[in-house]
Amino acid sequence: MNDNPAQCNAYRARVKREITMQLEQFVLAHEPAIRLGFFFAVFVFVGLWETVALRRTLATSKAMRWASNLGLVVLNTLLLRLVFPLAAAGIAAFGVANGWGLLNHFQVPFWMAVPIGVIAMDFVIWLQHVMVHAVPALWRLHRVHHADLDCDVTTGARFHPIEIALSMLIKFATISVLGPPVLAVVIFEVLLNATAMFNHGNVRLPAGIDRVLRWFLVTPDMHRVHHSVEDDETNSNFGFNLPWWDRLFGTYRAQPRAGHPMMTIGIHGHRDPREVARLDGMLMLPFRGELDGYAINRRPWHDHHGEHATR
Ligand SMILES: [Zn+2]
Ligand SMILES: [Zn+2]
Repeated sequence: MNDNPAQCNAYRARVKREITMQLEQFVLAHEPAIRLGFFFAVFVFVGLWETVALRRTLATSKAMRWASNLGLVVLNTLLLRLVFPLAAAGIAAFGVANGWGLLNHFQVPFWMAVPIGVIAMDFVIWLQHVMVHAVPALWRLHRVHHADLDCDVTTGARFHPIEIALSMLIKFATISVLGPPVLAVVIFEVLLNATAMFNHGNVRLPAGIDRVLRWFLVTPDMHRVHHSVEDDETNSNFGFNLPWWDRLFGTYRAQPRAGHPMMTIGIHGHRDPREVARLDGMLMLPFRGELDGYAINRRPWHDHHGEHATR
């Protein structure tokens, strides 16, 4: 029996470190299975929910959209594993082992580093989302997500492969600077994936529940405003996960003007199902056509009398 308090504390700290390390290694080793498991569970859950409580009648054939959107998901998953085999969790493990990043440098305790890491990464993805709407060349990529003529569980994972790759590079940079634990990265990725499927869901949620829930989580009605064809509605509600950033930075909009059942989903100028609901059309969409008012320096401006000014 050891009753020296200093030795006792050192022993406790070592045990704690050991448990944390084992947890991190377990998460790292099982990361693909954890993510895939949650993806399927949430996908089936929201998919079934859509069949029993549909919010809007679909504008296009569900079979064609689902085949294309899910085809894009499979393509993106394969490409990511091929181009970035280490994945975000691997970068985080490297950072932890080498003391890289703010949270590792300042030795922030594990129980604090996990929530800080998740919240900070959510803020970065919000900033990234605002950026891809504003910068014309990036809007070309991101409009593949917005060109979907309906918004449902499959829209949540519908992104052009180049945007996915860009997103991954930004995530790697964030992890290198921030230094979050592996657990934080995996929680963030699982949460983002699950909430994206939930808040793109074409599902009815009682108004009272929506009102309370949207203080903590982006709800389907909140994110649907972002998929409106109207420029000002598209450029609001950029959050995927936490709703606070939009409220904090003034980009929050409660409801669409036309109401949820009647609002038009998609973007101006690209409404042909052959272009926006077929995989080949979606992959080529960034390279087609002119940019319009959605991107930051393509917006028409008005003089003081509200008249359209010439450019
Ligand atoms: Zn968007
Ligand atoms: Zn969306």
